[in-house]
Amino acid sequence: MSTKKIFLEESEMPQSWYNIQADMPNPMLPPLNPQTLEPIKPEDLSAIFPMELIKQEVTQERWVEIPEEVREVYRIWRPSPLIRARNLEKMLDTPAKIYYKYEGVSPAGSHKPNTAVAQAYYNKAEGVKKLTTETGAGQWGSALSFAAQIFGIELEVYMVKVSYLQKPYRKSMMNTWGAQVFASPTDRTESGRNVLAEAPDSPGSLGIAISEAIEVAATRDDTNYSLGSVLNHVLMHQTVIGLEAVKQFEKVGDFPDVVIAPFGGGSNFAGVSFPFLQYKLREGKKLRAIAVEPASCPKLTKGEFRYDYGDTAGFTPLIPMYTLGHNFIPAPIHAGGLRYHGAGAIISQLLKDKVIEAVALHQLECFEAGVKFAKVEGIIPAPETTHAIAQVIREAERAKEEGTAKTILFNFSGHGLLDLQAYDDYFAGKLKDHNLTDDELYSALRKLDTPKIEQ
Ligand SMILES: *Cc1c(COP(=O)(O)O)cnc(C)c1O
Repeated sequence: MSTKKIFLEESEMPQSWYNIQADMPNPMLPPLNPQTLEPIKPEDLSAIFPMELIKQEVTQERWVEIPEEVREVYRIWRPSPLIRARNLEKMLDTPAKIYYKYEGVSPAGSHKPNTAVAQAYYNKAEGVKKLTTETGAGQWGSALSFAAQIFGIELEVYMVKVSYLQKPYRKSMMNTWGAQVFASPTDRTESGRNVLAEAPDSPGSLGIAISEAIEVAATRDDTNYSLGSVLNHVLMHQTVIGLEAVKQFEKVGDFPDVVIAPFGGGSNFAGVSFPFLQYKLREGKKLRAIAVEPASCPKLTKGEFRYDYGDTAGFTPLIPMYTLGHNFIPAPIHAGGLRYHGAGAIISQLLKDKVIEAVALHQLECFEAGVKFAKVEGIIPAPETTHAIAQVIREAERAKEEGTAKTILFNFSGHGLLDLQAYDDYFAGKLKDHNLTDDELYSALRKLDTPKIEQ
């Protein structure tokens, strides 16, 4: 009998998150206070984040303990299964072995609750009454709604307008878990009103929604802000994915040659790949880690490595990142969770140091891959996840051409059961590949006046 699913016992769930900052070949440049251009201090962040998360943002400790209260909530769906995609291998007639870590088993249907639960816990522990956040496709908003509800915190979600209209059922989930949801840009904040004054029909963007959520949190004493990707502590919380996968690979006596994940701000890519990359960084083990971004928002492959804001209005610290410019508004593609202008600082440094790789793919190839996968493996992937699957298929086909057996792991970041409109649009031929002109690609970058980084 051949193994299909590799499970762990609850007792085998990781006790600590892995912090790759301890093993990076070059440290990151410090984030800067935009007013003084000095490295930010913890006090600069304390208006919107709890102290423990600020500490986690900068710690160089390799292991950070997962509180028992957080592990208790994780146990609702964790450990998640590692699954061998044998039917996909057969269909592709490839010598490659393909495994995926299935994060669609969480209550919200994606990897995002891994950090949402931790963030809600630390805010609650420090007496915060209310959180604000932004959401693109609604994945992050629903994950945090669930987590905030579990720990008894109120939540306001600023949801990118195009997704609010395309994905009404995500809003229903958030409401079920007790959150208030607004279509961003709103007239509730100055940032929102400024955007609406210039572009009343603005489809919104993650950057704008972040500005709105931060503005509300910064102006209220009992309210904090919570971010679903990009920041170091968020990436670290997601390493529970890869740490489980390392143990699951041990059980079958295998180790991946290639790890692949879709890329929005970097959290699920970091989550699945960093625990494997530690063996590359410390022991020189061979391993390729490939981040897959949409061709319509190609910050890793076409962006510039420089200081930029994480949001449109410029409330966040200046982060050293690959960016398309914080005013870049991506085409309204269906993979809403990948429509972000920049990449996390850790990811950016690792890409600059060539520890990791990146590719940009068009959405039609991705949907085609997602449908192929669903037909043979059953599970319907989120549009974001299809980006990883398309790259897996490319790697598996290359393995066939080269006649080399290799082991591929990808992160199945979420299921697509609330994204069926996107599939309908794809079947109806309504989706297009969006080829960015240089003007579209570089106009937001050209306008940046944030500090450059010498290459
Ligand atoms: C949010 C999301 C992503 C992308 O975000 P990262 O922070 O880069 O992980 C990918 N897949 C799904 C299903 C998502 O919800």
